Amino acid sequence: MSDDSLVLYETPAIGVARLVLNRLRSRNAQNLRLLYALDDAFTRAMDDASVKVIILAAAGTDFSSGHDLREPLSEERADHFRGAGEFAAAGGSFCMAREESVYVNLSRRWRELAKPTIAAVQGKCIAGGLILAWVCDLIIAADDALFVDPVVAMGVSGVEWFAHPWELGARKAKELLFTGDIWDASEAHRLGMVNHVVPRAELAGFTLALAQKIASKPAFALKATKEAVNAATDSPGQRAAMEIAVNLHHACHRHNVERFGMQGDPSGVPKLKKK
Ligand code: ZN
Repeated sequence: MSDDSLVLYETPAIGVARLVLNRLRSRNAQNLRLLYALDDAFTRAMDDASVKVIILAAAGTDFSSGHDLREPLSEERADHFRGAGEFAAAGGSFCMAREESVYVNLSRRWRELAKPTIAAVQGKCIAGGLILAWVCDLIIAADDALFVDPVVAMGVSGVEWFAHPWELGARKAKELLFTGDIWDASEAHRLGMVNHVVPRAELAGFTLALAQKIASKPAFALKATKEAVNAATDSPGQRAAMEIAVNLHHACHRHNVERFGMQGDPSGVPKLKKK
């Protein structure tokens, strides 16, 4: 499969671009190629002046099964990490450069895109899948959507983009992380993590109609509004807390590498069931 087809680029209506995760054989597990293809697609939508709203959707039964844990780290070479320089070359700095460059910096860039973004989520949305949904401004969930961050069981303190307390509230964030429980769309909606829950068959149509409604508004006012709301979220210290969180997360990886020879605790690595 070529890199291009990992993320489909569609223009389903005037003013709307739809980016579709399309790594079907792994339920849209995120390897470097997929994430950089997605970054390129976001850039294309930003550079197109006719696009006012960007939808992030996913092909297949599941939005994203998270970061691709099966792809060996040896597949990832330093030249794959955009902007990480020599820190991605080897040693402990390799892991941290990967976390910062690929999971934090890309996610922050997407969250701060100057056009409104809407995630359309169906099926499983696991760990790194949460990141892709959370960086979007709005989230529409199909009624079959399931949300989980199971990485505490893998010996790590939560997925790299540590927005859990802001997405769920501190107490429910702790419950999600401590238990690794799977929460359904109605619970995510109750907690304010998703905007709307719709029948699976109506996910694409509902999301597109919402995008079109937003696309009818002035682009600069949308940009300013997005930045104003993001500023309200950032000002109580989100950025500083997330920097602390990713360093703690990285400390977990270093602990596991020393203890088990791998980034996770091997007893907790989930086995995805094939349907
Ligand atoms: Zn990590």
